[in-house]
Amino acid sequence: SPGSRSKDSLELRDIFIAVKTTRKYHKSRLQLLSQTWVSRAREQTFIFTDAEDKELRHKAGLNIINTNCSAAHTRQALCCKMSVEYDKFIESQKKWFCHMDDDNYVILSSLLELLSSYSHTQDVYLGRPSLDHPIEAAERVKSDGSVSVKFWFATGGAGFCISRGLALKMSPWASLGNFITTAEKIRLPDDCTIGYIIEALLEVPLTHTGLFHSHLENLQRLPTDNILQQVTLSYGGFENRRNVVSVGGAFSLAEDPTRFKTVHCLLYPDTEWCPRKTRH
Ligand code: UDP
Ligand code: MN
Repeated sequence: SPGSRSKDSLELRDIFIAVKTTRKYHKSRLQLLSQTWVSRAREQTFIFTDAEDKELRHKAGLNIINTNCSAAHTRQALCCKMSVEYDKFIESQKKWFCHMDDDNYVILSSLLELLSSYSHTQDVYLGRPSLDHPIEAAERVKSDGSVSVKFWFATGGAGFCISRGLALKMSPWASLGNFITTAEKIRLPDDCTIGYIIEALLEVPLTHTGLFHSHLENLQRLPTDNILQQVTLSYGGFENRRNVVSVGGAFSLAEDPTRFKTVHCLLYPDTEWCPRKTRH
C-alpha cells in the first residue's frame, strides 16, 4: 500500500537518545532543547541530570532521569552519568544508543537516515574522532608496570551512537557500575572510556563520521547549504560565543545566539513560534 514501509525499517522510536546535563544548565541549555529538537522526539529522549527539577519534568514534559551522581565536573561524576545512561539504554530494548551533550542540536531526520544504513544487530560505533590520531593511554595493571594502549574514540561533545548488538557486548565493562571501574583503570574521561571498551577491549573500530559536530571545531566553516544534512550541531561556550553555525533565516544573532531556533524553523516551519511566511 502507498507509504507502507518494510517491517524492519528503522523508526525514530527505535533510537534511545541520552542527553547529559547538570543542574546549572537546566534553564540556560535544556529549555532551548525542549523548545526545539527534543519537542520532536519527546518519547525517546532521556535527560540525565544530577538534581530534581519538577518544573522540567511536569511543565516541559521531559523524561528526566536523576542519576544521583555528583554535580561536580569530575571524571568520576561524568562517568557515573554515562554508566546510568548505558544501563537505562539496555533496559529500554531500543535498537540504538545515542549520547548527546546538552549543547547539541540533533537533526532527527539525518540521524534516522544515517542509522538506517547500518544494522543494530551488528557492531557499530559511530562518531567524530576528537583527535586526528588515536589516543595513547596507560592501562593500570595489578602489578607495578602499566601497559600502553592506542585507540580512537568519538568525542562526546559531538554525540555518538552505538548499536544494541555492540552495547550488549560492552556489558562486562560497562553495566551496573563496571563502567566506573573501567574508567578508573585508564583514568580518562567518559567518552574516552567508551572508546577504550569498544576499540581496545572489544576490537571493534570506530566508524568515523563528519556529520557530528562539537564546538571544538570551527562551526562557522560548515557550508550553509549543508547544515540541514548534518546529524548534530553545537555552539561555542562562554569563552567563544561566536562559534556558531552560519545560518540565516528566522532570527537575528541577537535573538538566537546559538542558531538552534533558526535551524529548527528551517526544519519545521510549521512550529507555532516560528515566523510565518507572508501570505498572499
Ligand atoms: N556537564 C555535567 N556536569 C558538569 C559540567 C558539565 O554533566 O559539572 C555536562 C554538560 O551539561 C554537557 C557536558 O557535560 O552536556 C559538557 O559540558 P560543557 O559543554 O559545559 O563543556 P565542554 O563541552 O567544554 O567540555
Ligand atoms: Mn560543550
